[in-house]
Amino acid sequence: MKFTDFNLKETIQAAITEAGFVEPSPVQKDAIPIILEGHDIIAQAQTGTGKTAAFGLPAMSMMKGDGSVEGLVIVPTRELAMQVSDELFRFGKLSGLKTATVYGGTAYGQQIDRIKQASIVVATPGRLQDLLMSGKVKMSPKFVILDEADEMLDMGFLDEIKNIFTFLPKDRQTLMFSATMPPAIRKLAEEILNNPKTVSITKAEKTNTKITQLYYVVQEKERDDALVRLIDYKNPDKCIIFCRMKKEVDRLVAHLTAQGFKVSGLHGDMEQKQREVTIRAFKGGGIDIFVATDVAARGLDVNDVTHVFNYQIPFDSESYVHRIGRTGRGGKTGEAITLVTPNELKTIKRIEKDVGTTMTTQVIPTRMEVQNNRSDALISKIAETKVTENAIMLVKTLQHDLDIVTIAHLLASLVQEENFVQGKDNIGLGLEEIELLIERALNSRGAGSGDRSGSRNRSGGGYRGNKPRTGGGGSGTSDRHGRNGRSTGGRDSRNGGQGSRG
Ligand code: AMP
Repeated sequence: MKFTDFNLKETIQAAITEAGFVEPSPVQKDAIPIILEGHDIIAQAQTGTGKTAAFGLPAMSMMKGDGSVEGLVIVPTRELAMQVSDELFRFGKLSGLKTATVYGGTAYGQQIDRIKQASIVVATPGRLQDLLMSGKVKMSPKFVILDEADEMLDMGFLDEIKNIFTFLPKDRQTLMFSATMPPAIRKLAEEILNNPKTVSITKAEKTNTKITQLYYVVQEKERDDALVRLIDYKNPDKCIIFCRMKKEVDRLVAHLTAQGFKVSGLHGDMEQKQREVTIRAFKGGGIDIFVATDVAARGLDVNDVTHVFNYQIPFDSESYVHRIGRTGRGGKTGEAITLVTPNELKTIKRIEKDVGTTMTTQVIPTRMEVQNNRSDALISKIAETKVTENAIMLVKTLQHDLDIVTIAHLLASLVQEENFVQGKDNIGLGLEEIELLIERALNSRGAGSGDRSGSRNRSGGGYRGNKPRTGGGGSGTSDRHGRNGRSTGGRDSRNGGQGSRG
């Protein structure tokens, strides 16, 4: 299916081509025709599935561009407001459709002026309610969109939303998007939607299929070591680590900082300014790792997050869906990695069943595997390096006292030292142990458990060199065993000795 299969107006079609979109995403395939037919919709889609275009393209295609506010998009956070507004601006600019972004914490005057010139207003509930109630702003949008409706309700905006709708025309097309569909969302939908069509992408598509979902089984006290080992092995460009509690966030930030990672915590109680500065650093690469609670990460909208780590598994399936949806966005692939203790395996099973997804279990890479990974990267790096004048001079000087092979060994040792991987050889449970535990967890819940069949086919296929292992036997690397603590500067070499990316 192509975008040209929809009956979108020419200038919108041109904007799609300009944006480089080739194939509509599943939610776009389903939602766009229904919206174009004039129906209200309730769509289950998380961020990263292309939902902004799913409502933006058809709605904008039907707008006149007559100078009035024709579309209103209500979003939970300021960051999402800016993101959605940017995206809609791209789609609308060739059609002469301007967007205004409205959120709290800034002056009213300028926002009111912008609204007066805009075809589409993207707003957070609090500020929008203020503006409507004050009478300073009047609008009769034909299209009203609730984006991330579940997050808005979680954030306590239900009253504001209901109130906002009292200011909106009855004759409108209302589109509601939500990553999850708890009862409160369905109830709200009944109140504000008119005979809606449901866009429910199949269970398998509900979570973005571009996200690889892995879990590792560790003992409680191994969580920190497991996390560091996995970060070392995966070498993520940008990752978010989720914890359950704020104090865990603080502790992990301190721990990872001490290990030399470029890391920051994201707190629910951070001031908006400080939050923005931190997020900008994350987007720009000054920070590689965010440690956050579910609350703090609400509305966090950063593309290019390569990995999401669940330091602890979330209690409920909806949080799991929200968390992992921070990666694998915009057609990119991502990895979601969850650490669980043997006791928490049943939570994994429950989430798999609720979400209709399969997570793969793997064994945490040994120290040697990480070391080998880095050595491989280092070898490629050396092969690509250009010889400099200074290097030639240096070798000449060294040759006064040493033969060339000794010099090579010394230089390699110097580089390797920075590449050294710390920690225990083996962390976490082996595949056989995990399978046994899964078997036991399922049996303890009684025979005929619905998700039992799913547990068979997830023996971590394709994982580099990760054989099932039982117990924590050494792996021939005991010569390194005595070293404790991470060498200073070691973190900068985690791209295989390529130096800091900062
Ligand atoms: P959203 O779910 O709206 O936050 O979209 C996530 C990202 O996917 C945005 O950067 C969009 O520009 C991008 N995107 C949306 N639809 C498509 C598509 N059909 N093809 C490629 N990228 C898309």
